[in-house]
Amino acid sequence: MDATALKRLKNVVGKNGYLDSTADLLSYSYDATTDWQAVPEIVLFPENRRQVSEIMKIAFDFEIPVTIRGAGTNVSGGSIPVSGGIVLCTTRMNRILELSKENLYVHVEAGVVLNDLYEFLKKHGLFFPPDPQSFLAATVGGCISENAGGPYAIKYGVTKHYLLGITAVLADGKILEFGGRTLKNVAGYDLCQLVCGSEGTLAVVTDAILRVIPLPEYKKTIIAAFKDIIDAGEIVSQVILEGIIPAKIELMDNWIIRRIEEFNPIGLPVDSDALLLFELDGERDSVEKTAQKVFDICKKSQSLTKLEIAESESDAEKIWNARRAGFSAIFSYAPTVLAEDIVVPRKRLPELILKIREISEKYDLTIVVIGHAGDGNLHPSVLTDIKNREHYERAQKAVEEIFNSALELGGTISGEHGIGLEKRRFLKKALHSKHLELLKAVKEVFDPKGILNPGKIW
Ligand SMILES: Cc1cc2nc3c(=O)[nH]c(=O)nc-3n(C[C@H](O)[C@H](O)[C@H](O)COP(=O)(O)OP(=O)(O)OC[C@H]3O[C@@H](n4cnc5c(N)ncnc54)[C@H](O)[C@@H]3O)c2cc1C
Repeated sequence: MDATALKRLKNVVGKNGYLDSTADLLSYSYDATTDWQAVPEIVLFPENRRQVSEIMKIAFDFEIPVTIRGAGTNVSGGSIPVSGGIVLCTTRMNRILELSKENLYVHVEAGVVLNDLYEFLKKHGLFFPPDPQSFLAATVGGCISENAGGPYAIKYGVTKHYLLGITAVLADGKILEFGGRTLKNVAGYDLCQLVCGSEGTLAVVTDAILRVIPLPEYKKTIIAAFKDIIDAGEIVSQVILEGIIPAKIELMDNWIIRRIEEFNPIGLPVDSDALLLFELDGERDSVEKTAQKVFDICKKSQSLTKLEIAESESDAEKIWNARRAGFSAIFSYAPTVLAEDIVVPRKRLPELILKIREISEKYDLTIVVIGHAGDGNLHPSVLTDIKNREHYERAQKAVEEIFNSALELGGTISGEHGIGLEKRRFLKKALHSKHLELLKAVKEVFDPKGILNPGKIW
């Protein structure tokens, strides 16, 4: 990096606002993927949008690549600085700026950790539903940039459904507001929604106005285990056909059930092929009635091996904690994990699961299945080792077939994790060439020098 540029960047953030030792740079060379790593030249921690703007002006003038990073929990390689340059880390921009209870919005900086936001809102009886299962660490900015979702997506939707406005710093340092504070807004193309899910390739989000809703009064969790994972997939559709929209429907396969029981025994049914977890929420009477309906639907299944309603909130929490540990259970098992993120229309879920099992057999690989069954979003995770080239190549072929299957079933190659580095080569399978051209043109307009998160998506 040019010495003048480096000096100016350091001046913007001050002596406590950057890291540049070898050890520190290594710490910012990876994210939650297990097969990518690249070291930046400097990590900057701006504290406000003015500093972000100053950084971007310098980066623009000197054509320095900038990789934006929240907590680095993404699983698509999004925050890996593959072109070196600057890592712009938002974690010191972590203030909650305003809560409007009358208008039901909260104005927060990009580095606010989701769990801190949840706890803050809870005190006011409010709720921000997007719930990536990394919420203990993931930031609002990361959530916006990946358009993250989670178990609550089936009933409440994903981040874009709660995004009213953002302040963005463009590649040349200009500060602009997109969207606003109103629920309705059709003044021009919706650039706020365009930036949402753009994986740090179009602009730096410094703060956002998020829609919030009242916390549901009451919740109930149902645990249902099945002899056959395909039957579990069928039950999901049956519940929806009854006119019930649970707050969550999550799926875990036998591998995950056993692995979680291994390191945190809570009595999960280790002999079952699959587990479905339902959460119902709303007013107490209505939740009790709907929970009974879901219970009855599951009870009719010939494949059922276990069925219970969590008796207390703490029992329910134990189960949901186990679900949250799902990715850790997988990632701690193999040196390299290709944790994919495909999505299909919900009804095609059983076919997708069947396909994944066939692919697993064909390539003689362990492919673990966990996911948000309620919205047809599965995370088939292929366990491999990048150092074992033959195994890793087999794993790559399996992944490609998994993507093909999702596309054939009317779905797509990413439901919530984004394209990043992991899925670049598959994007042309999912999108028409004209569509890709339009996206590239948008990128050109926003980032004419290609300095924002270069190497990602394309
Ligand atoms: C255990 C585990 C469970 C997970 N579960 C889910 C899940 O259920 N649902 C889900 O959707 N995801 C999930 N994820 C993926 C990930 O946690 C989410 O995408 C999360 O929103 C990323 O937030 P982050 O702060 O870590 O962002 P980072 O990983 O730091 O960044 C993600 C992307 O956003 C860009 N970015 C970050 N901040 C900004 C900003 N302020 N402006 C512009 N661009 C920015 C980065 O350049 C990068 O491309 C999971 C990950 C793990 C490790």
